[in-house]
Amino acid sequence: MTAVDLSANTNFWGCPPVACSTVIRSVADSSDYPTRAADDLRHALAGELGVMADMVTTGCGSDDVLATSFRVLAQPGEALVATIPTFAMVEPFAAAAGLLFAGCAFGDGFSLDIDAMTATGAAVAYLCSPNNPTGTTLEETDVRRLLERFDGYTVLDEAYIHFGGRTSIGLVWEYERLLVVRTFSKAFGLAGLRIGYAVGAPAVITRIQAARGPYKVGVAAERAAIAVLGGEGRRWVDDHVLKAKAGRRLLQDELSNRGIAFVPSQANFVLVPVPDAAATVSVLRARGLTVRSFPDLPGLGDAVRITVGPEPVMAAVAAALQKALA
Ligand code: PMP
Repeated sequence: MTAVDLSANTNFWGCPPVACSTVIRSVADSSDYPTRAADDLRHALAGELGVMADMVTTGCGSDDVLATSFRVLAQPGEALVATIPTFAMVEPFAAAAGLLFAGCAFGDGFSLDIDAMTATGAAVAYLCSPNNPTGTTLEETDVRRLLERFDGYTVLDEAYIHFGGRTSIGLVWEYERLLVVRTFSKAFGLAGLRIGYAVGAPAVITRIQAARGPYKVGVAAERAAIAVLGGEGRRWVDDHVLKAKAGRRLLQDELSNRGIAFVPSQANFVLVPVPDAAATVSVLRARGLTVRSFPDLPGLGDAVRITVGPEPVMAAVAAALQKALA
């Protein structure tokens, strides 16, 4: 039996159709290089976000943008601070940049413990809102308070922002040491094409552009990304974000009705603390559902993370989870 994959927080419904046709058409033009810095995409993103093109950089997925920014924003031997649990790749990307990883516990209600974060003396702070794997969001006032007090650079990962929470992208006009990172891999359904971007003040973007290397976004990927930012591609994305939100609402209602505690989410996934993550994952797997196991998360213990999909699938996963926990 092929399992339904609810583990990667990608778009359950697949690729926007206009992206597929754009990729197919672009293959014929792929004997030429793209522009070195994906200039058409930078301009399209600038228009979408109301910033200038010199405030945008792109990369091979937001993984690449994060890894490059860590290399640029701190020197080997300095520290990167993050509230934990958070996106699992942050610690290895920090290590690859020669940075020490300082994990801080969240404050009440998954807020930032700004005193603890500033006390680390780190050169970079990584924030994630909505946060992976908790699905919780940060208040802009909290982000602003950190920016006021923290001397280093702040990298705010908004990979899941299209599913909920308020963007802090407008703060890049006020704070030169803020970089907001986003991706086409989640709401936009293009994870396999590998397209991420960051928005920040021109001075910091120029440094990242210099370090990122040329040709990070292929011809087909760049055109597909532009195709889903507006028109019918964007309508498909917005429509499927609504479907994901409906699936999330149903999953959370079903879990509540069954007396299963979860972390209320603003993302396209829901984190459910369980007594034994590995055992829960294997019971769900036997029922044809693949979810992500998180053993021993700081402050939460074992948990499973369920990517949101259509309502009938969410009803099935809640029922299977109840059986697994019985
Ligand atoms: N940030 C967060 C919070 C993520 O969860 C992920 C992927 N799981 C990424 C960044 C990286 O995504 P990508 O490289 O596909 O853009």
